[in-house]
Amino acid sequence: MKTKKMLIAIMAGLLILTIVFCWIVWDQSRRKLQQVKPDITVTVLDVGQGDSVFVEWSNGTQMLIDGGVDATVLNRLGEVMLPWDRTIDYIVATHPHADHVGGLITVLDRFTVEHIVLNVDVYDSPVANAFLDAVMQESAQIIAPRDLNLAGVRVMYPTDNVLLVQTDNPNETSIVLAVDYKQYRLLFMGDIGETVEQQLIQAQILEDVDILKVGHHGSKYSSSRAFLEVIQPEIALISAGKDNVYHHPHPSALQRLLNSGATVYRTDQDGTITIRLQDNDFYVITGNQRWTWSRWSAMLSAY
Ligand SMILES: [Zn+2]
Repeated sequence: MKTKKMLIAIMAGLLILTIVFCWIVWDQSRRKLQQVKPDITVTVLDVGQGDSVFVEWSNGTQMLIDGGVDATVLNRLGEVMLPWDRTIDYIVATHPHADHVGGLITVLDRFTVEHIVLNVDVYDSPVANAFLDAVMQESAQIIAPRDLNLAGVRVMYPTDNVLLVQTDNPNETSIVLAVDYKQYRLLFMGDIGETVEQQLIQAQILEDVDILKVGHHGSKYSSSRAFLEVIQPEIALISAGKDNVYHHPHPSALQRLLNSGATVYRTDQDGTITIRLQDNDFYVITGNQRWTWSRWSAMLSAY
């Protein structure tokens, strides 16, 4: 009887030690993960023919700009978000086309979303209405572009300075965002074409841009020479599906981007494109990322 009690005591002691040990390892891992986090990570997700960009700040704030056409975005988010993270702080729906909001419907279904930025006025199509229904079911705060108040993010269009153009082309209603990090400027164009590019030039609000998410998947009607001459992008990111029926990106747009001095990355060739900005520097990684053991251990052993 006495031996049995001693055995139970030893087992209990071992269990407590194991729990304490696991907790210490977990806590250390968590701290190290936070240390190796870049100041901002921008990921152009490989969602096929569509657009989806995930932005994460080191304080944990996350913003998803568009969601591609279908549930592919969920797989891609699973590669950039930690497995237990089921919340996204901000979703921006640039405009109502299916290749931008289709996948957002699945995101709203799967994640808790706190803020949704959109132009309610320009939504009118079956997929846009399905998206709006999903938005209404989410208890998120709905924010008009001009009311977005997020540190480090500026809405460039539409604003009180650059009004929403009256057009039948939803592309030209895309919300344009700038993200600032130290001396770096990032610009996300949605599917904007030449009309709004001209408006932005005339409003004299453009400045030198380091990283450009190219407008409209690299279509020939976007990235005009005049626009590129003003912003002079260093890195140009194009989201397009392999062998897509629209033949995006168009050779003439690619040539204009190259002529402006930009290094071009494209999801149809490079897969997911990740840019990490940290310590007055940034670097680009291409290829879809998975949570392999080597990725975890590389992150943990970095410090
Ligand atoms: Zn599009």
